[in-house]
Amino acid sequence: MENRSFYNEILTEHNVRPEFKHDMEDADIVLEGVNPSCGDDIFLKLKTDGDTIVDGAFVGDGCAISQASADIMLGMVIGRKKDEALEMCRIFMKMIKGEASEEEIDSLEEASALRDIAHMPARVKCAVLGWRTLKEALSGEDTDDDEDDED
Ligand code: ZN
Repeated sequence: MENRSFYNEILTEHNVRPEFKHDMEDADIVLEGVNPSCGDDIFLKLKTDGDTIVDGAFVGDGCAISQASADIMLGMVIGRKKDEALEMCRIFMKMIKGEASEEEIDSLEEASALRDIAHMPARVKCAVLGWRTLKEALSGEDTDDDEDDED
């Protein structure tokens, strides 16, 4: 599909000019996410008000896919309820496993640019790093091993 280059443009844009890659002094949730297989290492920072994510940012280092994915994710979840953000995490994981419907993929907006990662097993952990960290930050669960290696 000719959409492929459009997707690459989205990823490149978020990588070269990330909107949310900066420090946040007054974050009330800070969680590190590490992907040793690639060397990606980020700190996700969230500012919340009750059930709502009012602001977010990340700092750290990693490959283009991990950085772009985290940046896209923050653009989608800021301003949302925690429950909505967790639902996005769930659909994103499903897409990366190649199990999401077209409708679900559409609902992920810019994050759907990462749908092809489902066919690149070596990059899956890069793509899900930000989302996995977000899920862990919001739910308080350690989702490290049960999400990405099974099935
Ligand atoms: Zn990576």
